[in-house]
Amino acid sequence: MLHKIINLTVRDVRFPTSLEQHGSDAMHTDPDYSAAYVVLDTDCGLKGFGLTFTLGKGTEIGKIYTGVANCLEVTIDQMLKEGYPAYTTSCAWLGYSDQQLKQLCSDALKSGWTRFKVKVGADLEDDIRRCCLIRQMIGPSSTLMIDANQRWDVAEAISWVSRLAEVKPLWIEEPTSPDDILGHAAISKALAPLGIGVATGEQCHNRVMFKQFLQASALQFVQIDSCRLGSVNENLAVLLMAHKFQVPVCPHAGGVGLCELVQHLILFDYICVSADLRNRMCEYVDHLHEHFTSPAVIQDAHYMPPKDPGYSCEMLEASVNRHEYPEGDIWKLEINK
Ligand SMILES: [Mg+2]
Repeated sequence: MLHKIINLTVRDVRFPTSLEQHGSDAMHTDPDYSAAYVVLDTDCGLKGFGLTFTLGKGTEIGKIYTGVANCLEVTIDQMLKEGYPAYTTSCAWLGYSDQQLKQLCSDALKSGWTRFKVKVGADLEDDIRRCCLIRQMIGPSSTLMIDANQRWDVAEAISWVSRLAEVKPLWIEEPTSPDDILGHAAISKALAPLGIGVATGEQCHNRVMFKQFLQASALQFVQIDSCRLGSVNENLAVLLMAHKFQVPVCPHAGGVGLCELVQHLILFDYICVSADLRNRMCEYVDHLHEHFTSPAVIQDAHYMPPKDPGYSCEMLEASVNRHEYPEGDIWKLEINK
């Protein structure tokens, strides 16, 4: 039976994460993690929820895009008992002190994490020191990845990452401009002898970009993003292409609600497409989950399959009210400081 959409609301929700440097990297020194949040009402009482992740002012554009991108719902019927392997980015944001890095690494190891990502790209000597510190903390058998958030040109990326080869990163993420496909191919070729792959995709806006990256052997890890690509369907096309090229998919997550959304896509990939966990893991960032009605559940560094129907992107009404920009209580306080 067909039902009509009778109402659509879009709200600008922002979290002041910059106050504690959560999310800081080489390109975003004071990010406020934000979302354009859409609720659809239908004439039968069913509701649809969707969001797209932005960094503060990006919401002003994201408000238009979300309605198209994320209101398709997907339910994964088959549950995986052991969960899907995850890695953590929460230990090593660029703005954290050494003391904070050590404490967070030590806590994460105690909770069972074995895969860690470190932000790099602002200062080479600082990167060498921080990466060595983290490698020392996590030991030789844990996995370490590095992420430059597009900071370098091609030659600089190759020379910078070569200097970091001693900490044995599995991948360098976003080494250069995200649409420089041939640049990524050159970096991939140069770093292959060092055993370092190139990971990218969180800024790729459609399947054609991914097609060319794969055709040019310009990436070794595909990082789909549930909000950057327009809709679930576009993401599924990328999963199928990655399978054809036998390149592992390791989704981008974090931000606002990205972990909640992308867990569905990677479980679909495992259950219906790849059936392979080698070199595969999904990013996890331990912020802002408490604002969702069905937050992602992590056990022993694995995403546990969501048990509620839908795409896990319904936010708590109280959270939306408090964080709506600029009228919510949180922003009224910040603006009046
Ligand atoms: Mg990244």
